[in-house]
Amino acid sequence: AKNQGRNAWRYFTPALQIAAEHRSRTSSDLREALVRDQFHLVYQPIVELATGRIRKAEALIRWQHPQRGFISPAEFIPLAEETRLIREIGGWVFERAVEQVAAWQAAYGADFQISVNKSPLQFKGDEDWVGYLVGLGLSGHSIVVEITEGLLLDADEQVSNKLLAFRDAGIQVAIDDFGTGYSSLSYLKKFDIDYLKIDQSFVRNLAPDSSDLVLCEAIVTMAHRLGMQVIAEGVETREQRDLLSAAGCDFAQGYWFAKPLSVADFETMLAKVG
Ligand code: C2E
Ligand code: CA
Ligand code: CA
Ligand code: CA
Repeated sequence: AKNQGRNAWRYFTPALQIAAEHRSRTSSDLREALVRDQFHLVYQPIVELATGRIRKAEALIRWQHPQRGFISPAEFIPLAEETRLIREIGGWVFERAVEQVAAWQAAYGADFQISVNKSPLQFKGDEDWVGYLVGLGLSGHSIVVEITEGLLLDADEQVSNKLLAFRDAGIQVAIDDFGTGYSSLSYLKKFDIDYLKIDQSFVRNLAPDSSDLVLCEAIVTMAHRLGMQVIAEGVETREQRDLLSAAGCDFAQGYWFAKPLSVADFETMLAKVG
């Protein structure tokens, strides 16, 4: 209310200031983190529902801050995007994931893939992702790039060219958080997309006769008819898995199968279940 404006302002200023200081400290810490090697990746298995096999994993970044302990990517990735540090962090993630997929292909076969999250800003730089893969003797098919709908909705020439280069190299593309961002689906005709990732919010309350189940079934039908496959995220229960499986969903990931794992734990799991 207007007549409260003055007091409200005075009241909120310190809080805003503290938040701003916290952010600026975090962003200078982020810069340090790269140099001081405070990031690492964990890998969440992606399970093929028809067979139970694990032929893919999603790489997720972790930050162990020396004083503040674990900081969630949900907190620092947006800040890294604002400060443009995301390009360096993203480059680090990509290189690490590529090294890992090389090792896991040697152990588990050449069809093993790692999927990597990429922020829209990473499409603005001139990093040569394809060249990096090829330089290590890996096929493009080793990597799935996860992007969000927003990137495709305002895709300029730079973005389109990168996506075309991915297609030519065999790098696959997944739409992350599918269904949460925008109502337009026209980008599905324009770009070569390999996977739709059903967002956790559609999986959380999945039940027989639920509207979420209808939505999941519709996404699967649409995806398959357009030549795409579907990965469900956030699968936490046997019932969710069974419903998604019956709906024809191709892949799933979530705590029901495994949390994001360290390299050692991932290898232990694969030794058990393949
Ligand atoms: P996302 O790409 O949608 O990743 C899925 C998130 O769901 C991950 O959170 C994962 O740990 C969590 N998750 C997996 N299974 C379950 C489940 O069964 N239940 C629930 N409730 N959650 C589950 P995380 O690792 O905290 O990452 C959060 C977000 O941070 C990611 O969302 C992604 O947008 C971003 N992120 C993480 N790593 C990177 C990265 O290397 N680069 C970029 N650009 N973004 C990243
Ligand atoms: Ca993702
Ligand atoms: Ca997602
Ligand atoms: Ca999500």
